[in-house]
Amino acid sequence: MSFTSLGLHKPVLDAIRDAGYETPTEIQRQAIPLALRGDDLIALAETGSGKTAAFGLPLLHHMVGERGLRGLILVPTRELCVQVAEQLRIYAQGTDLAVCTAFGGIDLGIQEAAFRRGIDVLVACPGRVIDHLERRNLNLEQLEVVVLDEADRMLDMGFLPQIRSIMVRCPRERNTWLFSATMPPEVEGLCTAFLPDAKRIQVGRRSQAAQTIEHRFVGVDEADKEQLLTELLRRETGRVLVFVNKKTRAERLGNRLGRAGLPADSIHGDKGAEARHVVLRAFDRGKARILVATDVAARGIDIGGVELVVNYDMPLEVEDYIHRVGRTGRAGAEGRAVSLVARAERRVHRAVVTHLNGSARAGGGEDSGDADAAPRKERSNGRPRRRSRKQPATS
Ligand code: AMP
Repeated sequence: MSFTSLGLHKPVLDAIRDAGYETPTEIQRQAIPLALRGDDLIALAETGSGKTAAFGLPLLHHMVGERGLRGLILVPTRELCVQVAEQLRIYAQGTDLAVCTAFGGIDLGIQEAAFRRGIDVLVACPGRVIDHLERRNLNLEQLEVVVLDEADRMLDMGFLPQIRSIMVRCPRERNTWLFSATMPPEVEGLCTAFLPDAKRIQVGRRSQAAQTIEHRFVGVDEADKEQLLTELLRRETGRVLVFVNKKTRAERLGNRLGRAGLPADSIHGDKGAEARHVVLRAFDRGKARILVATDVAARGIDIGGVELVVNYDMPLEVEDYIHRVGRTGRAGAEGRAVSLVARAERRVHRAVVTHLNGSARAGGGEDSGDADAAPRKERSNGRPRRRSRKQPATS
């Protein structure tokens, strides 16, 4: 199937061609025809599957030729907000449509001034939409399409009251498209309330890690992690995302890697919007190509060519592991994930391996090996050893 056969307007098709997309991804193949037909959608999509274009392209198609705020995309974080807006602006470049953003940490007046200059599509975090609605800066009466992107994460972050409040202010005659990596009961509740007649689509297994990712696990003493990481990073030439579980740990590790002569920086919730933006730009341009991040800060970061994801700390949940490693191996590209597993992290490591082995049987996660309790051996070549999935989880 080609993009042309999907029936999108010419300016949108031209922009896709300019972006270098040749064929639609699976989620795009499934979602775009339904969205163009006017159906509501509940889409379960693997991270990096091309979901932004899956909702962005039909949304712009519906907007072409008219003016006024008719499309609203709600996202969990400011980074995702900026990134989705940037992608939409690329797809909208052959149209007159204006894409605006609204997220916290930036003066409301600046955003309001942008709305006044013209707004057709708004990409926003729920809390900031409420702020603008209270100040009567926004009018949702003309909305035709509402997208809930990363719905599971928005609910995790406590945005349900704001989402409800926004949804009840939208016109009844609208389309709603919900995208989520997972479908916990809270998201099902939202679907029942606001998308009772939606068509459901799913790409791959629920929460399946991208099939192009190689997963490796290295058993290590907590005290040896930093040295092991430094050695591992010295061998890398591409972009690396390093995950930690605490903001303070992100800052400290980023600084220490920098002092060790590595091109590293950190991103976490205690950094302001401007500082995060600067760090992300440097990462994107390859200037600081090692980025230490917390889950929330990294959520939704879409930077092409992340070659390696390192779990310096194992995440607390399997689903966080899937989200983290989803930063590499996007849209069919090869990716690698290395996790440093300390003794206290073995429980979650076992759960991740079990999950990946399930995915592997479904066709992915080939190298979901086991943690090695002898990190020294791994250091001889700086790379964790491959282990068979059949070996015991820890030795
Ligand atoms: P997303 O899942 O929306 O975060 O997209 C992941 C990456 O895939 C982004 O960098 C997109 O630019 C890219 N992408 C989306 N659709 C396509 C496509 N049909 N062909 C190639 N790359 C794509």
